Amino acid sequence: MLSKARRIVIKVGSQLLSSGEGIDSDFLKNLAGQVEEIRKTGREVVIVSSGAVLAGVKALKLGRKPHSLSEKQALSAVGQPYLMEEYRKAFKEFGTEVAQVLLTAEDLRSKERFHNAKNTMEALLRFGVVPVVNENDTVSVEEIKIGDNDNLSAHVSVLVDADLLIILTVTNGIYDRDPNRDPEAKLIPVVENPEQLLDICDFSGKTDFGTGGMWTKVEAATKAVKKGIPVIVAGGREENVLLRILSGERVGTLFLPEKKLRAKTYRILFLMKPEAKIFIDEGAEEAVIKKGKSLLSKGVKKVEGNFRKGDAVEVYNLKGELLGKGLARCNREELESSKLCIHRDEFVLLKDS
Ligand code: GLU
Repeated sequence: MLSKARRIVIKVGSQLLSSGEGIDSDFLKNLAGQVEEIRKTGREVVIVSSGAVLAGVKALKLGRKPHSLSEKQALSAVGQPYLMEEYRKAFKEFGTEVAQVLLTAEDLRSKERFHNAKNTMEALLRFGVVPVVNENDTVSVEEIKIGDNDNLSAHVSVLVDADLLIILTVTNGIYDRDPNRDPEAKLIPVVENPEQLLDICDFSGKTDFGTGGMWTKVEAATKAVKKGIPVIVAGGREENVLLRILSGERVGTLFLPEKKLRAKTYRILFLMKPEAKIFIDEGAEEAVIKKGKSLLSKGVKKVEGNFRKGDAVEVYNLKGELLGKGLARCNREELESSKLCIHRDEFVLLKDS
C-alpha cells in the first residue's frame, strides 16, 4: 500500500523546524534531499509546513510566542517569507522550485474555492514544482480558522487526492503517553480505528510553538483515513524516515484507511462549522434515522442559534442526543414557511440507527 503511493502529502511541524537561530536549514536540506529521491521515482510530493510564527518570533527576537491572536497573525506574516526562503534554498540545490500556497478554512469549505485551489495544486504538480502549504494565518481569525496544520494536512490530502499522508513530528509516532515524560510510554504501531485511541492514550501534552500536540495528529489522521487515505505519523529526525516509509519499512504509527466517504459527506462532517442546533420531535427522528428520509420543517421543535441556507446545523432529538449534521435548505426565518429543512442527501447520520 505504501510503496504504491504516487501522490504524497508530507506535514512538517514547527518543532522539527526549530533551531536556536530560527529555521533549521540543515533539517530542511535533508528533507529536500529525501523528497527529491522520492520525486525521482515519479511520485509527486506536497508539503504542508508550519514554522511561520516560529520564524517571526526569531526574526523579531521575541523569545517566545505571543498570546494575542493579532500578534500571532503579525508574526506569521513576518515569518512566512523567512520560512519560504529556507524551503527555496533547500530545494534550489536540486534545481527544483517551490511554491507558497496559503489556504484558509473558507477556501476548503466553499465548493467553488475548493475546486480553484485543487486546480492550482494540480497545475503546480504538473509544472514539477513542490507546493509548500500553510494556513493563511494573517486573515484566519479564531472562529473561522482550521487552527492547526495537522488538520490542515488532512484537508490538503483530500484536496489533492493523495495516496498517503505522512505527518512528521518530534516523537517517533503515536505513543500511549508522552514519551518525553514517561520512559514506559509505548509506541502504537498500527491503528485500525482512531476512536479507540481515546481509551488507551493520554494526549494532554502540548508543545511550545506548534498548535498541535499528539491529539491533533490523531484528529487529522481520523479525517484522512475516512477519505480512504492511509496516514503515518513518524519522527522527522529519524534517519531517512521518508525513504524508509516508502520502501515499506515499519516506521512510526500507521493509520489504516477506511471506506472512502463521499466528498460531500467529508465536507459536511469535517469542513463545515455547525452554525446552529436544531431539535426535532420523535416522528421526525424516526423518519430521518430509521427511514433515511429528509427532515421536514414541521418536525423541528426548537432552534438554538441562527442559520442561513447552506449552513451546517447539528440535529438533536428532544432528549438532547446528537443525531447528525446536515446542510440547511432555508434560512432560519423561513423555517415555518418552507417545507424542507434538510435534504436526506445533505444529512450525515452520527447516531446508530
Ligand atoms: N500556521 C502556523 C505557523 O506556520 C502553525 C500552525 C501549527 O503549528 O499547527 O506558524
